[in-house]
Amino acid sequence: MENRAALYWNPYLETLPREQLIEIQLARLRKLLAYVKNHSVFYRNLLSDVEPYDIRSIADVKKLPLIDKEDLRKAQDEKEPFPFGEMLGVPPEQVCTFRQTSGTTGKPVYVPESYESWQWRVEVWCHILWMAGFRETDRVFIPFGYNVYVAFWEGHFAAEKLGCMVVPGGALDTKGRINKIREVKATALLNTPTYGLHMAEEAEKMGLNPRDLGIERMLCAGEPLPDATRRKLEETWGAEVYDHIGGTEPCAWAAMCGQRSGLHIMEPFFLVEFLDLETLSREVDEGEMGVAVVTPLGRRSFPLVRFNTKDVVKKGTDGCGCGRTSMMIEGVTGRTDHLMKIRGVLFTPVSVEELLRSEFAEIVEYEIIVQKKGIMDGISLRVEPKEEMGELAVNGLVRRLSERLKIKTNLRFEIEPVSPGELPRYTLKSKRFKDLR
Ligand SMILES: [Zn+2]
Repeated sequence: MENRAALYWNPYLETLPREQLIEIQLARLRKLLAYVKNHSVFYRNLLSDVEPYDIRSIADVKKLPLIDKEDLRKAQDEKEPFPFGEMLGVPPEQVCTFRQTSGTTGKPVYVPESYESWQWRVEVWCHILWMAGFRETDRVFIPFGYNVYVAFWEGHFAAEKLGCMVVPGGALDTKGRINKIREVKATALLNTPTYGLHMAEEAEKMGLNPRDLGIERMLCAGEPLPDATRRKLEETWGAEVYDHIGGTEPCAWAAMCGQRSGLHIMEPFFLVEFLDLETLSREVDEGEMGVAVVTPLGRRSFPLVRFNTKDVVKKGTDGCGCGRTSMMIEGVTGRTDHLMKIRGVLFTPVSVEELLRSEFAEIVEYEIIVQKKGIMDGISLRVEPKEEMGELAVNGLVRRLSERLKIKTNLRFEIEPVSPGELPRYTLKSKRFKDLR
């Protein structure tokens, strides 16, 4: 039998019976509530009626108010101490670093970290990397300049803590990065799905097969990773590709294990609820879609209680072939901001990506545009083929694509083929979906 210490980063926590996991979560939650009421102006006001020891069960958590990104913005906007505002849970001089959200959905949020809170995030990430098979023998290449964006910093610090050799790849172009992978004999990548595909495309242009570059595993961050895209990356790189879910504000809270089917919630670091999409009040059942509401249980500098992530996921069960006892999610469907009605049909852009990555290998990039056509909503899809195609082939592609999209989404798309290289390439966050209504 394989040594347990090699299977788990923290064998005790990862295999605890559920009752004990929940007990730890509750104890940590009460401690957090008591702390934030005393240390953060925002929570002193928000939770003035709440007594931490009145929270006796997980069900009682639902009595606490939900907050979302907009509340965080309001608590920071022109509020002291600049720029962290009233959410801050430690004296400003204890802030040792800060990260920022990307601002794709509005004004960026500043996330201050004390050394203790930062180390808490790094420890969570050690779990993520270990589950994805990262070990001290790995050489981890991170092909980005990470600026103030959190995920790659977390991955960087956690990989070091695991004992990996970490090579940051900022300040290089894509060609330079591919050469660096070869030079240092990298075995692992932290990547965005989009950039993973783009790097492979560039490697091929350099006359290299990405499968020969020696990458054995890749952990993706920054964007949703539909299963079809994950498999495509695995196929292209000849590597195991892992997903996780999280965000700048709450940290990453669920990740894939070696089974690569569903994601483990990092209990007891987080208390995660899955609420029904309509009322946000009822906990959904297993197999049902719900909005993830996350409470990180050990963060002091930027404390969050019941943060509505707006991520829509399918709630899974507990227990997994890997032996971990934590609750799982079956998959990530998208975000509530991206879940929309078009001509009365519920639509999420991820469904288009799924279809393209699984059935249309000839398409390398795409862009979805929703706009008003008269009084109706129109949806169009611009697709970029890998190489120049003749008129006949293009017509065939458009026909096949429209039929498959109609079946998959119940919507009729206007399809516009563009020339190879015409659509923008993204590195950190792709903007392939545009709602111009
Ligand atoms: Zn597992």
